[in-house]
Amino acid sequence: MNAYQKFKMTPQRIAIMNCLGQRNLHPTADEVFQAVRKMLPRISLGTVYRNLEFLTGNGLIKKNEQGGGQRRYEGNLEKHYHIKCTSCGRLEDAPIEPFESLENSLEGLCDYKIFECQVEFEGLCPDCQAKHSSRTNSQAEA
Ligand SMILES: [Zn+2]
Ligand SMILES: [Zn+2]
Repeated sequence: MNAYQKFKMTPQRIAIMNCLGQRNLHPTADEVFQAVRKMLPRISLGTVYRNLEFLTGNGLIKKNEQGGGQRRYEGNLEKHYHIKCTSCGRLEDAPIEPFESLENSLEGLCDYKIFECQVEFEGLCPDCQAKHSSRTNSQAEA
């Protein structure tokens, strides 16, 4: 299936898709707006929101709104888990294979039809680890 043939890909949508095309990138709508504006200076935040919803609704990109944090978008449609830095909020793809059997075993235990399993690991990213270790313990983050 070629998304570019199936849907009307306006310059705005193409710019957004290009922005989300990089792996391991999970920008917020505002970050997408900042990036797309470099290519399309007249685009508005509202247009970016509308197109993000359109692309999400048509399965061309994915929306991630876990943990009560900011809604983030990504172009990686493959099933994968995430790691979140609890200090700076950075979200990355977890470099492990998803456990297919997790959903299957749950389906045997309840009456739900399970179609999604989102897993988010939490930790400290390398940058924040470096920052934390460069401080003394008494100055550690409250
Ligand atoms: Zn961090
Ligand atoms: Zn991801």
